[in-house]
Amino acid sequence: MLKFRKVYLFLAITTLAGAFLAACVSMAPRSNPDYDVSKPHHRPDGFVNRYIERSDKPGLWRWQWERLRDGLPKPPAAPIVGVRPDLELINSESTQPRVTWVGHSTLLVQVDGLNLLTDPHWGQRASPFSFAGPKRHQPPGMPFNKLPSIDAVVISHNHWDHLDQETVQTLMDRHSGIRFFVPLGIQHWFKKEIKGTVLEGPARNVIALDWDQHANIKGKTKNLELHFLAVQHWSARSIGDRYETLWGSWAFMHPDFRFWFSGDLAYSPDTKAIGDRMGGFDLAAIAIGAYEPRWFMKDSHLNPKEALQAMTDVKAKAAMGIHWGTFDGMSDEPLDQAPKDLEIAKKEFALPLNFFVLKHGESWVGR
Ligand code: ZN
Ligand code: ZN
Repeated sequence: MLKFRKVYLFLAITTLAGAFLAACVSMAPRSNPDYDVSKPHHRPDGFVNRYIERSDKPGLWRWQWERLRDGLPKPPAAPIVGVRPDLELINSESTQPRVTWVGHSTLLVQVDGLNLLTDPHWGQRASPFSFAGPKRHQPPGMPFNKLPSIDAVVISHNHWDHLDQETVQTLMDRHSGIRFFVPLGIQHWFKKEIKGTVLEGPARNVIALDWDQHANIKGKTKNLELHFLAVQHWSARSIGDRYETLWGSWAFMHPDFRFWFSGDLAYSPDTKAIGDRMGGFDLAAIAIGAYEPRWFMKDSHLNPKEALQAMTDVKAKAAMGIHWGTFDGMSDEPLDQAPKDLEIAKKEFALPLNFFVLKHGESWVGR
């Protein structure tokens, strides 16, 4: 009986998903308006990775069926407990670098009087639907209305758990002077979807970067350089637009603080190249979650063991694990599994590494 129920549920989900995908196909543009023939990662229809160009892994439905059959992911073994954000620290005039984990890949990064957000997401779901798809399990570690005035936002790629339209629109509406630094191609989405977007002229507030390009922001005392750097991943907001906009990681290079935000990534020689190019970091925020089942996820996401390798590749003195514990059902491991596997991997790793996780709402303070 149970088996039949699961079959019906599976059919219902696939039908619903099929209808959505069909609707998306008709909406999706299929060309690359930013195509530059001289760039090896550009294609007329989008972009490719430097190593495994495009890994269109078959098996999405096999994975969906297997997880339904096996009842995955299991719930966390114990509740995931956040902390109250230290608003005094966050709002202080101190020039000490601070990084606060809001949840998933959303971080508040503070350096030299600047307040920056990575992949801001305060939404209830990481999904195109309001009624289905990965649901928020853990409230944001910091209420949206308690944020300090935000100077800049970096976006790693357009997946639904990284680019939340409502959050982006609210930031645009409420934080005057805010600027969004986005992967090449995402500026067109902003123009279409986000009111207040300006792509040209002195009031430009959405700046699209290609790999290995950088932009400058003036801090209180010195300049902060934001470098957009290649990692192995992909992009899509609907079917038919895979690889259409670029994806990547961000290096925040300030004389007093060098920070790397990994975005989403599979393991590849890109991380070694980042370490060589940028010369190392004081802190890296590296995605450690959404890695099971390995056969399906390994071309898209690091597991914690690979995250340790990525940390050493980019030459980070310290690393914090992100992209876990926040949205339900993104992958097969329980939401609290990544930090446990991280601890096991650290014991097995050749070197002792300062790779830790924060609680939702918790801040890391640099020297
Ligand atoms: Zn992604
Ligand atoms: Zn993600």
